[in-house]
Order: sequence, then structure tokens, then C-alpha cells
Amino acid sequence: MDRVRPSRPDLADLAPYTSKEMRAEVMLASNENPRNLPGELLDKLADRVRDIEFNRYPDPMSSHLRSLIAEANGLDASNVLVGNGGDELILDCILAWGGPGRTVLDLPPTFVMYGIDAHMTGTEVVRIPRDEEFRVDGEAVLARLAEGDIDIVFISNPNNPTGDISPETLLIDILNTTDALVVVDEAYFEFSRHTMRPHMDRHPNLVILRTFSKAFSLASMRAGYLLAHADVVAELTKVRQPYSVNRFTQLAASLVFRERVVFEATIHELLRNRDVLVTGLSAMPGVTCYHSEANFVLFRVPQASAVWRDLLHDHSILVRDFSRTPGLEDCLRVTVGTEEEVRRFLAALDEILASKRASDIMGVSATAARHEKKGAGDA
Ligand code: PMP
Repeated sequence: MDRVRPSRPDLADLAPYTSKEMRAEVMLASNENPRNLPGELLDKLADRVRDIEFNRYPDPMSSHLRSLIAEANGLDASNVLVGNGGDELILDCILAWGGPGRTVLDLPPTFVMYGIDAHMTGTEVVRIPRDEEFRVDGEAVLARLAEGDIDIVFISNPNNPTGDISPETLLIDILNTTDALVVVDEAYFEFSRHTMRPHMDRHPNLVILRTFSKAFSLASMRAGYLLAHADVVAELTKVRQPYSVNRFTQLAASLVFRERVVFEATIHELLRNRDVLVTGLSAMPGVTCYHSEANFVLFRVPQASAVWRDLLHDHSILVRDFSRTPGLEDCLRVTVGTEEEVRRFLAALDEILASKRASDIMGVSATAARHEKKGAGDA
């Protein structure tokens, strides 16, 4: 055959999450920790790599890491599921609680994978947009949940890409209103320190999602975990890929989790840098900067796409362009980097905006001059 038959027709309007790997000197697009693992952890990891049985399949449930996470959270291992990044666990939740004839509640603008995974599994998506300050419309959400047909709700908390936290009282109201699976995505927990963990005992439908990709400098390894009631974990285990977390990742994530206290200094440094970033952005004419509880900041700037391009091409700084996302027109998101990266970003943005203002003025005076000339000719 010289052809391949078409894939499922409902994939036609689904765009891949990201199609190209972009590189820049200053990488502030993916909310990663700007620092690699501390040297002492790299040394320990290097020492242990030789002991890995690369020829053997990994432990399917990442038992060692699972126990460490359970113990740290005052839970049993049966309440923990480790996955190939939070992304895999989001998909597992949708595979088990979504699918044809089932419904996901999405609260955009938010993390896009909830919608993408719902789409690709044939799950219906009900969307209740956030307001202009990116707050969840609590009244509308509770009313919709009360109808009883929602099977799974995703709440990114802090919300990526807007950075804000939903009030705990609202999350409790949601848990009290529905028996749907309520996934509170705490990917940025180490920065926000807000968690719904204390509410797990009373709410068997609560799932808390975390990742090693952000504060713990392990984005390359692909490791995440969720905390949930044992029955929920058992259901998720039915749909998950058995060997998705490889031995090397299990080793690295276990080491990092055991020694996670060493990340505290960097987390605090990043929170200080976030303050510098927010202060700098807020002081720039024409820029609106949104409050963030995470390691990134969303801001609105005129001609955002052109600014994004200038940052990349003229300054080798990569941020994320959200300006084509509904509700995020003219918005860019910048990850909190090192002090030097924040300084470099602010200086670059300042320069770009100053030159845009200058060319606007020039444009205006050029037009004015043309008008004057035209007027003179007319006279
Ligand atoms: N949830 C949210 C809100 C995120 O921002 C991300 C990463 N961008 C994830 C989950 C998934 O993270 P990972 O797959 O790297 O663990």
C-alpha cells in the first residue's frame, strides 16, 4: 500500500501539546527550576547508577518511592500512585473516570492537558471560564456540579498559567457538592505551600496531584505522584501503563525526595526573585502583572506576540506566549529564573517596550508630518 488510512476523525482538530523544542540562552518558558540538581545529589546519583539492573523491568508501582511519599504525607502506600510525570497521572484519571459518555469539568484558562486528554479519550468537556481576575466562578461551578452529570473536575491550584490560588472554602464546597473525582493539581505546591491534604480523610473523591518537575529540578526524569483514597488508586492502577516510571527515574526521584530539604534554599531564592520580577513588571508602563503563588508570573503587554518574538530573537530569552488562548489575549508567562535571568529578562523587556513606544511616537509623528504636508499641499 502506498498510503495509510486516516486516524480517528475526532483527532483532526486536536493540536499536539508542543511540536518543537525551542532553545534559548535564558529558558523561562516551562516553569522548570533554573538550577540543575545540587552537586552532592548528582554525585550520589552517579554512585548508584552502576547498581541499576538496566536489563530488568522496573518495579511497576515504584514501591520504594511510593513508601517515602506515603510516609511524608502521613498516608499508607496504597494512597499513593507514582507516574511518568503529572501528565501521565492526569491521563490515568481521565482514562478511569472519563471516556465516551462521561464528562469533565474544566475551568479555563488553565493547564491545557485536562482538555487535551479529555478530547483524545472522547470525554465530553464542560467549560466554565474564570473571571477577568482568573477567579473560578464558584457559584456557576457549584450549580453545574449539583446537576450531577460531571464525572471529573480539574482544579489547578495554583492555576497554571495564571498563578492564583482558589479559596480553600470553595474547594471544600466543591467536594461537599459532588461525588465526581475532584483532582486538585498541586504541581506548584512547594512554592505555594497550600494543600488540600488535610481534607483527604473526609473526602474519598479528592485526588491531589504533585510533580518532581518544578521545585525538585527533575523535569527531565518525568516523575509525578498523586495522593488519593486507596479505592481510587486501585481504579487508576487498572488503566495505567505498568512500566511507565523507569528504574533511573525511580532512583533519582527517591534520592531527591529523601533529601528534599536541600531544595528549600532554592525555593526561597526563587520566591525572592519572583518578588523582584513582579515589582519590575508592575513598574513598566502598559504592563499588567498578575499575582502568583507559583514559580511563574503571567503578564499582559500590548503586542504580546511581537514582544515574545523580540525577547527570543534579540535577547535569546524564551517565555511562553499565551496571547492566542481565549481569555489570555496579550498575555505572556515568564518562569521565575535565577537573579541574573530575572534581571536580564526585565532589562530586555524594558528595552523592547521603550523601542516600541519610540517607534509608535515616530509612527504618530510620521503620520502627523504626512498629514501636515498633505494639508500644506492642499492649501
Ligand atoms: N499540572 C500542572 C498545573 C502543570 O503546570 C504541569 C507541568 N507544566 C503538570 C501538571 C505536569 O507536570 P509533569 O508532567 O512535568 O509532572
